[in-house]
Amino acid sequence: MNPEIEKLTRIISEAQEAIAAIRAACPHEEYKVTQVAWAPGHYNILRICHSCGGIAGSITEEETAAFLETRKEPKRRLTPFELESLIQIKRKPQ
Ligand SMILES: [Zn+2]
Repeated sequence: MNPEIEKLTRIISEAQEAIAAIRAACPHEEYKVTQVAWAPGHYNILRICHSCGGIAGSITEEETAAFLETRKEPKRRLTPFELESLIQIKRKPQ
């Protein structure tokens, strides 16, 4: 293999090990609840540590429910224009 690639691959590996060691030692004192993609279109709702970016323990059902509540569309009345558009769509013959 290209020696430069071998060298860079080793640097990446060492950096990943260093990050894992920092995360393992981190007390995860502050975290946010957010969605994290683990594959295209697939998300987990997790606690992510502010300090190390690692997963900060297991999320509770209450935290999951509170997060999902923030993701909902705000409830509001339709504007007169939106209402009229809906009425016109329903009136259109097929
Ligand atoms: Zn942490």
